[in-house]
Amino acid sequence: MTFATLGLIEPLLRALETLGYQTPTPVQAQAIPAVLAGRDLMAAAQTGTGKTAAFAVPLLQLLTMEGPKVAANSARALILCPTRELAEQVHASVAEYAQHLPLTTYAVYGGVSINPQMMRLRKGVDILVATPGRLIDLFRQNALKLNQLQTLVLDEADRMLDLGFSEELANIYRMLPKKRQTLLFSATFSDEIRTLAGQMLNDPLSIEVSPRNVAANTVKQWVVPVDKKRKAELFVHLMRKGRWKQVLVFAKTRNGVDALVDKLQGLGINADGIHGDKPQATRQRVLDRFKSSDVQILIATDVAARGLDIEDLPLVVNFDLPIVAEDYIHRIGRTGRAGNTGEAISLVCADEVNMLSAIEMLTRQTLIRKMEADFEPEHRVPDTDASGQVVKKPKKPKKPKTSGGGGKRNLGKWVDSGEVAPAEPSIKPVRKVPVFNTGPRKKK
Ligand code: AMP
Repeated sequence: MTFATLGLIEPLLRALETLGYQTPTPVQAQAIPAVLAGRDLMAAAQTGTGKTAAFAVPLLQLLTMEGPKVAANSARALILCPTRELAEQVHASVAEYAQHLPLTTYAVYGGVSINPQMMRLRKGVDILVATPGRLIDLFRQNALKLNQLQTLVLDEADRMLDLGFSEELANIYRMLPKKRQTLLFSATFSDEIRTLAGQMLNDPLSIEVSPRNVAANTVKQWVVPVDKKRKAELFVHLMRKGRWKQVLVFAKTRNGVDALVDKLQGLGINADGIHGDKPQATRQRVLDRFKSSDVQILIATDVAARGLDIEDLPLVVNFDLPIVAEDYIHRIGRTGRAGNTGEAISLVCADEVNMLSAIEMLTRQTLIRKMEADFEPEHRVPDTDASGQVVKKPKKPKKPKTSGGGGKRNLGKWVDSGEVAPAEPSIKPVRKVPVFNTGPRKKK
């Protein structure tokens, strides 16, 4: 199958050819004809599957072929994204696909001055990429009207809910014209996403390109058990041993990011970090420097790194496991993209065993563990598997105190020195369901 057989117009085919896209990815093959036919869409596709082109390319074609010229302070299509970085990235892709078309594109998001955005919107824009909060601000200040809107795209909808944007989405929903096309993309389909889809979509075509909730299989994943206090030391050791060149590292908190950046920089390692406390301009600069290989190690929180598309990123390291199991899939989706192979290494300490178990259950796999010599943990990480069970080793029986010879009676069972007590039931279910998307989370 080629892009031409999907019915795309020549200026789009030319743009895709310039970008080196030869054949449509599975999500593109399914989504493009459906969007061109005007259908609503509900697509389960994670980052790296080519989902951006799957919605953007047919959308550009529809906007070129149909509909009136854009009016002042209006947009004909709106793409909502959870983070500024993703909005920038989606906008960059859309602009590339639209390079031979007479359409205008623009991205708006918070963390930067609203005035230039208001000025730019005066002329109207065919495709507007936006984060929810800033979109609402612009709408309330009358800088943007949505009555001309033909198509709404919700990109990474699961993430928008994770980040607590459900109220914003409900507000935006009320601002939209009733007659429109809506395309919803989500890495995973939780019940909340299905509810959202039920409200926003009209008889959608459902597309699922990778098995539900299964991590990208082009990524080699393993775990290195280690004590919490030795994680940084292990990271430096592995980095030197593996001669890592470009690594994206995930830490749980902003403080964690800063602490690791300081530590690595202190050792003369070329590292930098991004998280929600840093101004947008700084985040973008660090990201650009990482993409151009001026920064070797980029340490990020989940929110800041969401949706990053860095070509051929060979390695992702989870310095901390994510609290939300689904974030693991998003994290490792930064590598092994577009058919390349990648590696994802998680440094896991005993405290994180429940998170590890939730990830294994969600991704339906038991992650391989590799002990690193000299870093074997003092606090053992209990065994886990894809069933969601944490297998605690039977405790060694306490030696009975011998008072006056013989063993001590222990609830009716004699335990003598040297004798092994019956093992406690060794399998203890920790959690039946992995933690994911059960409600709005605090914005990071
Ligand atoms: P996405 O899932 O949209 O973030 O895309 C992941 C990566 O795949 C991006 O770098 C795209 O430029 C690339 N890509 C998307 N579609 C294709 C295609 N049909 N052929 C080759 N690369 C593609």
